[in-house]
Amino acid sequence: MKKLLVFFGVLSLLLTSVSCKKKSQAQTNGQPVEKEAVVYFCKEITPENILKLYEAMGVKQEGKIGLKVHFGEEGNQNFLNPELLRPLVEKVHPTFVETNVLYVSKRRFTDSHIALAKEHGFTFAPIDILDSEDDADGLCYDATGLKHFTKIKTGSHFANYDAYIVYSHFKGHGSAGFGGAIKNVSMGFASPGGKMAMHSSNIPAVKKGSSCVHCQRCVQQCPANAITLTDFGPVIDSSKCLGCAKCIAECGLGIFGQGDRAQGEDFLERLVEYAKVFCEKKPMVFINVMDKISKSCDCSAMAPAPFMDPIGAVASTDIVAVDYVCHLLTAMKQKTEDAFLDVNGVSGLAQIKYAEKLGMGTTKFVLIDVTTGQRISLEDALK
Ligand code: SF4
Ligand code: SF4
Repeated sequence: MKKLLVFFGVLSLLLTSVSCKKKSQAQTNGQPVEKEAVVYFCKEITPENILKLYEAMGVKQEGKIGLKVHFGEEGNQNFLNPELLRPLVEKVHPTFVETNVLYVSKRRFTDSHIALAKEHGFTFAPIDILDSEDDADGLCYDATGLKHFTKIKTGSHFANYDAYIVYSHFKGHGSAGFGGAIKNVSMGFASPGGKMAMHSSNIPAVKKGSSCVHCQRCVQQCPANAITLTDFGPVIDSSKCLGCAKCIAECGLGIFGQGDRAQGEDFLERLVEYAKVFCEKKPMVFINVMDKISKSCDCSAMAPAPFMDPIGAVASTDIVAVDYVCHLLTAMKQKTEDAFLDVNGVSGLAQIKYAEKLGMGTTKFVLIDVTTGQRISLEDALK
């Protein structure tokens, strides 16, 4: 009986991996995806299970593989422990890849960025900052049929890889609601010029009647010198602002918030359009980890503490499904409709819906427990 169960578990994995390969082809033609995506899940977030998730997808990645990670801002305490990646790195021999950021930080310049990555424990694979040799724009791809862009800008090293593993920490983000695979691909692969292009419509609002204590933190952290403090609180110079949302994350009194709602959704559409082009240029698979889930992202020097317990990790060849499952699981865990709308005032679900509309993937999925090979429900995943 036990042998039979193992046989059906293995058969189920084989069938779902065939389905993944079909799905992966469907993603590249820009048409809406009708098949269900397969999303693999593990509850225990361990190095061995991260490798199992990768292998379960059944995708043979060959040649030069980039492992897209986030090294964590200096002072950030929530970024994922790199040791989770060690077995995957030993098996696949990828290069850790990242791009430089827009704002004032060690991650702005290649040398200090790499030094910080090593300080944070990313020592067991080569590191490549994809835009390390570029001007602000870097490598430009022509884009057609998009609402916001005709050009997509990335680091020139992006073209040097045959395939990518996109490894994302699923957590909150001040402007995007949450950051998962879509945001890791879009903002994570964009050159500084690309990052600016996505942020350009995203100027924060200053809450009226705010109780600013003139601590100067927002002024010091603003990469564009766009904030002036007056007796009535901060004022943003919109002609300078990059829309990076650092001030939203940095002010402990919550004095900065999203600009008007339309601008917020505009930003999410921009993220998705960048991700779409990158996904079309290179084969990618996606692993999301739901651990240390704070309202803010790993770019924050002092991110707020996690507000929910770890849930597990998921993997899929479908970028929409992998983020959607995380969105659902985090909402169910918090017994609400959208855990990040509650804490950030923005629903990241708009990223998912727009990505599905653009044919990048599907919100229809089956969930497979990678440790048993059995199909499970979202409720099972949270038990
Ligand atoms: S970080 Fe907040 S409290 Fe401090 S100066 Fe800026 S707006 Fe005022
Ligand atoms: S979003 Fe805030 S921190 Fe970023 S550039 Fe604009 S004012 Fe400065």
